[in-house]
Amino acid sequence: MKKYSRVLLKLSGEALAGDKQMGFDEETCLNVARQVKTLAEDGYEVSIVIGGGNFWRGRSSKTIDRTKADQIGMLATVMNCIYVSEIFRYVGLDTKIFTPFSCGSMTQLFSKDEVVNFMKKGGVAFLAGGTGHPYFSTDTATVLRAIELDCDIILMARNVDGVYDSDPKINPNAKKYDVISLQEVLDKKLGVIDLTAAVLSIDNKMPMLLFGLSEENSIVKAACGQSNGTTLTV
Ligand code: UDP
Repeated sequence: MKKYSRVLLKLSGEALAGDKQMGFDEETCLNVARQVKTLAEDGYEVSIVIGGGNFWRGRSSKTIDRTKADQIGMLATVMNCIYVSEIFRYVGLDTKIFTPFSCGSMTQLFSKDEVVNFMKKGGVAFLAGGTGHPYFSTDTATVLRAIELDCDIILMARNVDGVYDSDPKINPNAKKYDVISLQEVLDKKLGVIDLTAAVLSIDNKMPMLLFGLSEENSIVKAACGQSNGTTLTV
């Protein structure tokens, strides 16, 4: 039996860039597409948020206004969704891109009903452009959309394979959690997700699973409840 039926997959921009850290790694994106196809064929309803960190972060520039820098960041997430959506189509998936602001003919305006109807027909909905507002992150947009769309869980694919009690790159004895509450993540200042996203998640009881994208079949395993990542309870 399937563990979840409707999931929101969050891909960080950096995870999509593979070893290059900037732009796209096509093999990584194809791998993601094939795994999501497996889920769609198995009846999972999937929507996707992609970050923008492989192109731009609001804090990238000290010289320009934060609002304008964040607008560039949001547009970076739209570029990411256009690219990854095309890769998904290449493997045979039906896709649509939704944004909270108008992008002409490139995307459709986000609407809960449109997205839910599309997912029910087996389509994969890309939720681009974050919340549409500066001073937010794509993690916050992810939680917001997962709540709005009545998702069962957020699957957070990252460059790290879970939540550790200290930075595993610095501390070789860092311990990985199998399960930890989001409140504990906040209390211990583990820094895996921003405060706004965490509070929204706790308030609305939206759980998450954080896992490493590079592990073989990691998205399928995460959706089937067989992940080696960390479950963040609420
Ligand atoms: N951003 C924003 N509002 C949002 C979502 C994103 O202003 O609702 C901007 C912000 O500048 C952020 C950038 O888009 O730094 C890229 O998103 P993020 O850093 O969350 O991407 P990720 O780290 O997941 O790749």
